[in-house]
Amino acid sequence: MIKVKDLHKSFGKLEVLKGISASIREGEVVAVIGPSGSGKSTFLRCLNLLEQPCAGEININGTDITDKKTNISKVRENVGMVFQHFHLFPHMTVLQNILYAPQKVKRLTKEEAEEKAYALLVKVGLSDKADDYPGRLSGGQKQRVAIARALAMEPAVMLFDEPTSALDPEMVKEVLEVMKSLAHSGMTMIIVTHEMGFAREAADRVMFLDGGILMEDASPNEFFAHPKSKRAREFLEKML
Ligand code: ADP
Ligand code: MG
Repeated sequence: MIKVKDLHKSFGKLEVLKGISASIREGEVVAVIGPSGSGKSTFLRCLNLLEQPCAGEININGTDITDKKTNISKVRENVGMVFQHFHLFPHMTVLQNILYAPQKVKRLTKEEAEEKAYALLVKVGLSDKADDYPGRLSGGQKQRVAIARALAMEPAVMLFDEPTSALDPEMVKEVLEVMKSLAHSGMTMIIVTHEMGFAREAADRVMFLDGGILMEDASPNEFFAHPKSKRAREFLEKML
């Protein structure tokens, strides 16, 4: 479903992605892990063109998204993203946050969009918060709204960039639970995370990035039990 071939990205002289190649199947859950600054966010952001790759190919559902002729907004409709810091619209209620894009971009009627939004709020356990403003929610609740908002566009794949890193410890679990149930529902997911327990339990695959290079691409069992590279072993020693 996603094919990345020799992806390069530099910021000025700084080469951040040094030729990443990977394939991700439909329904697969991939955990991307690695030290800070290794290029994890940049990799994710290239997949929905928040960053423009310098070289290489990214094919999603048969479309080469790096092709100049590709419609960037169409790509983003298909690729949902959840950020560390939620990025909700503060001046809109929870419901309005979720309704906005489906109405604006997908041209759903208000009724259609609302029906879907309420169903998604049930899914993330927040049906009683529809009319609250984000400012009144806890971090865990905000992140679950952000997940519902991304899902409202019915993307083919969901990208998560450290979705629990900004949360107080007691709220991490509720967000991971929502992500786990999403994983079980067959959603294709790529998740940058420092939650090793979650990666081990919920991911089908682990990609270990270091210095802009995909050092390891393995099943969680294989990766956590027998990391091949010294860098991965050192990283895991610090994390576990
Ligand atoms: P990670 O998510 O693994 O911590 P990032 O992808 O955020 O790493 O960053 C990788 C490197 O690229 C870092 O050195 C970072 O400072 C640099 N970088 C990321 N985004 C930009 C940008 N927009 N402009 C310049 N440098 C950037
Ligand atoms: Mg990052």
